Amino acid sequence: MSGFLKIAIRNLLKGPVTDPYPFGKTFIPEKLRGKLKVDASICTACGTCQEVCPSGAIYIKKENDVYVHTTWYNTCCFCGNCEFFCPTGAIKLTNDFHTANTKEEKFKFVTIAAISEKECPVCGNKFVPATLPLIEKSYPHINDEIKNLMKLCPECRKKAAFERLYQ
Ligand code: SF4
Ligand code: SF4
Repeated sequence: MSGFLKIAIRNLLKGPVTDPYPFGKTFIPEKLRGKLKVDASICTACGTCQEVCPSGAIYIKKENDVYVHTTWYNTCCFCGNCEFFCPTGAIKLTNDFHTANTKEEKFKFVTIAAISEKECPVCGNKFVPATLPLIEKSYPHINDEIKNLMKLCPECRKKAAFERLYQ
């Protein structure tokens, strides 16, 4: 039997060795850098990700009481800077690589997160609260006094902490 025939029979018996993608599943490495996701519940709209993004892919705009956090896949180079520098862990790269798009879809290829402002219980000013669950995770022994302070706007928090220090 010729070498060619042997290979042809072996391949026929073994079946395809490549993934049937896009008609079936394929292997996606866990650490592949793909689309970003933003967890609005822990994002403080601090703007760090926008500052450190080398390709200008992140834009945060305030609309009334809401910060709109937009990420454009067309310009993102998946460097991971935003994830690395985010102080709360709100922005993460996923391994979803489906970023190809038509020219017409260009401006639809975004991830949008809305971060709402809250009213300070003391002065009534609007602000984006600190992410208490994250603080509790890092410092599980903080007491109720500190937890209540974290619910105030930065100005009232400073004032209350100062008064507490010198009372
Ligand atoms: S995703 Fe992170 S770095 Fe970006 S605005 Fe939100 S908290 Fe700040
Ligand atoms: S991964 Fe890099 S390029 Fe993409 S949004 Fe984050 S900082 Fe910008």
